[in-house]
Amino acid sequence: MIVAIDGPAGSGKSTIARALARRLGLTYLDTGAMYRVVTLLALEQDVPLESDSRLGCLAREMDVRFVDTPDETARVLVGDRDVTDAIRNPLVSQKVSLVAAHRQVRQALLRRQRQLAEQGDMVLEGRDIGTVVCPRAELKVYLTASAEVRATRRRQQLEEQGVCISQNALERELLLRDSRDSGRVLAPLRKARDAVEIDTSALTVDQVLDLIVEHAAANEPGEGTPC
Ligand code: C5P
Repeated sequence: MIVAIDGPAGSGKSTIARALARRLGLTYLDTGAMYRVVTLLALEQDVPLESDSRLGCLAREMDVRFVDTPDETARVLVGDRDVTDAIRNPLVSQKVSLVAAHRQVRQALLRRQRQLAEQGDMVLEGRDIGTVVCPRAELKVYLTASAEVRATRRRQQLEEQGVCISQNALERELLLRDSRDSGRVLAPLRKARDAVEIDTSALTVDQVLDLIVEHAAANEPGEGTPC
């Protein structure tokens, strides 16, 4: 079974997608991490963020891997280097939606994401999973939450990593990223027509999971390849 989870920044996608994958015995794929890795490498290597061809080259050639750990927090590796924390740093968060708007970057990552999803039995989360990456996914979920709740969640995550940013600054950054992600020409952030929309603002993780699992049980696996 393929489950597609999309939604704006901080809507709870990663937490829910990871927990859902565990509950249903599926593999988890964080497609946002891939866009973040391209952005981190571009910043480190002084690749201009306007250069479609150079960013595309990075996206095609990077050796990115996701590795599960015993405590179930997947690590993101580039070669042998662990970039899990580096790809969440504030500069990468500010710039990633600029990088993600480039045609060659999206083409390269779409190819990788579909190759991974071909193995089946996966929860993929991102912005365009239900609309572009896996338009025939058996279950599509679109998560939302108020901007205030989303900024609070992001602030708490960052504080756990020892990074302090004001609530207002985070809220502004999330809204800017959302408007870039939903306003771009290629694969913009959209709810797929057949996605179930869940507002997670006032729900616990378990409540959201229960709702999704109910929908999953009601959905018979479809015919053919979902991606
Ligand atoms: O999910 P996360 O917030 O880590 O994603 C970072 C950024 O990557 C998004 O703001 C968006 O610009 C880009 N992205 C995308 N398509 C996806 C996943 C992420 O454009 N499927």
